[in-house]
Amino acid sequence: MNITKQFSPSVNNNDKFQYETFHDDEKFHDACGVFGIYLNDCDKDAAPLIYYGLLSLQHRGQECAGMAAVKDGTMECRKGLGLVSEVFTPQVIDQIKGPAAVGHVLYSTAGTNIIENAEPFVSRFKLGSVAVAHNGSLTNADVVRELLEDAGVGFASTNDGEVIVNLISRNYKKGLERALIDTIQSIKGSYALAVLTESALVGARDPNGIRPLCLGQLDGGWILASESCAFGAVGGKFVRDIEPGEVVIINRDGVKSFSLGEKIRRAVCTFEYVYFARADSIIDNVDVYGARIRAGEILARESGVEADLVIGIPDSGVPAAIGYGRAANIPFGLGIVKSKYIARTFIAPGQIQREKAVSVKHSVITSEVRGKRVVIIDDSIVRGTTMKRLVEIIRAADAKEVHIRIVSPPVLCPCYFGVDTPHRKDLISNGNSVPDLCKSLGADSLAFISVDGLLESLAPSGSSKTHGYCLGCFSGVYPIPVPQKFNG
Ligand code: 5GP
Ligand code: MG
Repeated sequence: MNITKQFSPSVNNNDKFQYETFHDDEKFHDACGVFGIYLNDCDKDAAPLIYYGLLSLQHRGQECAGMAAVKDGTMECRKGLGLVSEVFTPQVIDQIKGPAAVGHVLYSTAGTNIIENAEPFVSRFKLGSVAVAHNGSLTNADVVRELLEDAGVGFASTNDGEVIVNLISRNYKKGLERALIDTIQSIKGSYALAVLTESALVGARDPNGIRPLCLGQLDGGWILASESCAFGAVGGKFVRDIEPGEVVIINRDGVKSFSLGEKIRRAVCTFEYVYFARADSIIDNVDVYGARIRAGEILARESGVEADLVIGIPDSGVPAAIGYGRAANIPFGLGIVKSKYIARTFIAPGQIQREKAVSVKHSVITSEVRGKRVVIIDDSIVRGTTMKRLVEIIRAADAKEVHIRIVSPPVLCPCYFGVDTPHRKDLISNGNSVPDLCKSLGADSLAFISVDGLLESLAPSGSSKTHGYCLGCFSGVYPIPVPQKFNG
């Protein structure tokens, strides 16, 4: 979500301050995780399962966590700042009653992690209650918000999820299905939704399927999750991906699915495979771990270099390094250790804090790299902060040569669909040739995988033909129009 025009007249000074702070530097985006449970037995509680589901989606957002559950027409919602285990103590989980529930982990740019932005958003109105957990970013949220405000709706947050819940509740008098159809026809951009009503759990994915969403099954119930890695944690099994443009309604009659049928063209975010997703997930029939291994192999074929050791930057660089090492016949080793206890550094508020955080996050195993020609593989270079620091510490550990290989093409353009990328001017590949960038990072060589190479790595299993992907951050060509004023 871009917050350029997102503030209602009722914002307080704190909100305004936050908006101004970020506007120059960052876009307010969130690539989050959603999770939903529907249990057939009304005497059971879904909250403990939501807890485990959210824990396995924690990599998708570490700023806020929340869940809403419904029992006998009463909807209860709890959310807070922090990790899932911090927000949901056993005592809190115990208080959340009901056989159906949705949960959310929020990933926002630093400074926006105000509690008001935590999801799910609940709307209570005369026909009932609805809760919405959203992953993605709407490109027309400002227009829809303005229309709703003109109609008297007040907003407490800057979050797209609140826009969506208000649209659903306004349309609810036409019935759930009509309300969902009307809502979905009013919103543009990327969305993977888990919606809870008093009698149903609903999943919906935007017509391009930019963000992932899948359906799983439990003994006596159903699951919706951003990633299939969450099913095992609750004893469930993967059933299928929700298709682009598909809506599923889960209630006591089972699962009903319909497609909005309009302008459906798959354009799954490539960054889900490159960086976001957990390696044990399968998204749209593409195994994330396998795709990362293949990307490494392809990169070795495209940009091989003589070396003694290949190391991968944890977490997403590691499978790619294994693939690179195998294809190039160079030993793979663990040259870099990552602290498990520091959250992702990409979102630290300023450059100095980001550099500090990177230093704490990664350290080098000197005995592994000393005297060697080392290839370091990372998933991406965005601002260049991480890579610059890595080259420094590997050189300081007396590596003979340092070669950088990156398993995504240069990131040249912002993402408008939910990945938190900085403004164009802060993307280090923008305006820097590869040789210049190599020099400024202090490496002996630098190469990125080609766009065709990346697409080759993402072929669905059993097929050599790739399906549609969004490559907007590499090419500036987006699957749906991006408002001009955002395009900067
Ligand atoms: P840089 O340090 O160049 O700004 O960012 C690149 C590093 O950030 C890579 O190590 C990559 O794993 C990570 N990264 C890439 N995309 C994202 C993102 O959307 N969010 C976060 N938190 N990290 C990212
Ligand atoms: Mg990284």
